[in-house]
Amino acid sequence: MGGTETDIPLLVDGKRNDGRTIDQMRPVKIEAGVLERADGSAYVELGETHAIAAVYGPKEMHPRHALIPNKGVLKVRYSMLPFSVGDRKRPGPDRRSREIAKVTREAFESVVLLDKYPRSAIEIDINIMQADAGTRVVGLTAASVALADAGIAMTDLISSCASGKIEDTVVLDLNGLEDNCGQADVPIAMTGKGEQIALMQMDGLMTKEELNQAMEYAVTGCKELHKAQVDALRRRYQ
Ligand code: UDP
Repeated sequence: MGGTETDIPLLVDGKRNDGRTIDQMRPVKIEAGVLERADGSAYVELGETHAIAAVYGPKEMHPRHALIPNKGVLKVRYSMLPFSVGDRKRPGPDRRSREIAKVTREAFESVVLLDKYPRSAIEIDINIMQADAGTRVVGLTAASVALADAGIAMTDLISSCASGKIEDTVVLDLNGLEDNCGQADVPIAMTGKGEQIALMQMDGLMTKEELNQAMEYAVTGCKELHKAQVDALRRRYQ
């Protein structure tokens, strides 16, 4: 949420700067099993935000002192590749990437059956190849498909998208310009069958009514993504 000023109108007669309606998500593309060497992988595009996720494991836990005898450990790494943004991004972890990795891990801890993997680690590696807002939600959506592709036992898939507020209007799935110049951003992750919220964050301010509307839009978005995730996994194993 940059709060940056722009001369480009964000909303004209109910249409956004990229031609979408307020409750419309950017075009979605999901592919499962895109990497030969990983145990599971997925590529997800949501408009101009592109992410690839790889899953390794279950494997031996390192460092040994961090292993948990009766359950597995999820390790999540999130990185924005140097060429993913306009100004070259300095490689390596920073505060933001650690925060995104943490909330992503917590979301997956609610669905991965870690009891089935004692003394083991499952590594989730999320790389943002191109960023135009919503990288954490696209990364999460990709990681969920990669976990399923790796055959990791889960109670449900997780789908994730964000709602936001631009020009005092709640909209679904902010693009980069909207994120930069908008008033609020609410990333949400939801389980596919159970419709349980696995992640919810908020940047900016919304009224209670606006937040309810944002939730409503995001739930619809997550359902659309869930369908695309299942389709991608079906195509992979057909
Ligand atoms: N962004 C950027 N450089 C950075 C971090 C973010 O250009 O170092 C841009 C990028 O387009 C990203 C957006 O700002 O998608 C919003 O970032 P935020 O931290 O809100 O997370 P996201 O919406 O990507 O999950």
